Amino acid sequence: MSDCLFCKIIAGEIPSTRVYEDELVFAFRDINPMAPTHVLVVPKAHAASLAEADALDDRTLAACLRACGKVAAQEGLTGGFRVVSNCGSDACQSVPHLHFHVLGGKKMSEGMA
Ligand code: 5GP
Ligand code: ZN
Repeated sequence: MSDCLFCKIIAGEIPSTRVYEDELVFAFRDINPMAPTHVLVVPKAHAASLAEADALDDRTLAACLRACGKVAAQEGLTGGFRVVSNCGSDACQSVPHLHFHVLGGKKMSEGMA
């Protein structure tokens, strides 16, 4: 998608700090980290959010989830980690390209909402 921030990051048109990449997935450090490790895992194919998951094939969706675990292992998050995907305005999604926040490196809050 030509006007999408994360599509531009995937294409290398906007710089990012890449953490992981495979055929289907790109992962990079969040510009405004909320935890010592804060990585965004995104499908290379564009879909706005999980509400549009039907726009992506199952291999891509599975690759995103697998990549979250790979990133956590690569980052040494042996104590655990949290994966969040904000979807739509009630969840305060700010970038309309599906992404999974991988957060770790500290004790997370018990509350999720
Ligand atoms: P959302 O609020 O949609 O769940 O998450 C979007 C995330 O993208 C935010 O955590 C924000 O810090 C991050 N972000 C926004 N613009 C950029 C950017 O240009 N580069 C990187 N690396 N992260 C960004
Ligand atoms: Zn996009």
